[in-house]
Amino acid sequence: MRMDPAVEMTGLVKRYGAKTAVDGLDLSVARGTVTAVLGPNGAGKTTTVETCEGYRRPDGGRVRVLGLDPVREAAALRPRIGVMLQSGGVYAGARAEEMLRHTAKLHADPVDPALLIERLGLESCGRTPYRRLSGGQQQRLALAMAVVGRPELVFLDEPTAGLDPQARRTTWELIRELRADGVTVVLTTHFMDEAEQLADDVAIIDKGRVIASGTPEELCRGGAENTLRFSGRPGLDLASLLKALPADSAAVELTPGSYRIEGKVDPQMLATVTSWCAQHGVMPDRLAVERRTLEDVFLELTGKELRS
Ligand code: ATP
Repeated sequence: MRMDPAVEMTGLVKRYGAKTAVDGLDLSVARGTVTAVLGPNGAGKTTTVETCEGYRRPDGGRVRVLGLDPVREAAALRPRIGVMLQSGGVYAGARAEEMLRHTAKLHADPVDPALLIERLGLESCGRTPYRRLSGGQQQRLALAMAVVGRPELVFLDEPTAGLDPQARRTTWELIRELRADGVTVVLTTHFMDEAEQLADDVAIIDKGRVIASGTPEELCRGGAENTLRFSGRPGLDLASLLKALPADSAAVELTPGSYRIEGKVDPQMLATVTSWCAQHGVMPDRLAVERRTLEDVFLELTGKELRS
């Protein structure tokens, strides 16, 4: 079995005129894994993925996908990858099922299109022209078209954008099944929970570069790993509370009467805080230990919310 990465990208540069969309990006995707590429709007995610698919010619750097150059060896690569684009509507007049059957015929050993149609809940709109499908139906059809050829590697650009919760769950299940079948999945998303649920590895992109990467657990480690929150009367003497806590702790009053303590949150810290509260006649309401999420990491690194 070949263990070289499914995607290997070093120093990728892509410009559109004077605009540098990707600015020296390094990315390695191990075979058989799900990698989520996260980043704010305009970070360069789509450009990066489209370069892997051979739709964009790099201005610098080296890209290998399944060991092949996506531009020069496109003919060899295309049958082995599945691609879900953000807007897949090129054949606006074609009917949904026809489109899927047509795509299936381009592959040697496709999945039965009827099975995929049923699986993705598209039975009622198989005869509907593409342009009349709802946004969510178009998304699901694009996903079906990406996987119908049993690709070794699938690129999914925001696969669940605009989907209702049910369709979102179905999509997640399908992605998990692809992984279980040994398929490599690269997905871009704005949804942190999607990355946390599905991804073995996460690459956070900002301004055309990878600014952090690792497993979701690795990324959430470090910094303030956990936080402790509670409510009490406004204006507590946090300096006095901090004196009782380890030196690297921090405490803030977020809004009047709402407190956050950062540091090594362990049973000892919890005991210290509750005992300090008892000594000061404070009832710590809604006391909760919260794990640092990818959303927190993302915000710290980019200063931006993921969804805009
Ligand atoms: P989003 O989350 O909004 O989809 P993204 O991270 O996928 O964003 P890209 O679509 O790769 O980002 O865009 C990166 C930058 O390149 C943006 O500033 C965008 O405006 C610019 N850009 C993308 N495509 C083109 C194009 N065809 N011509 C000119 N500029 C482009």
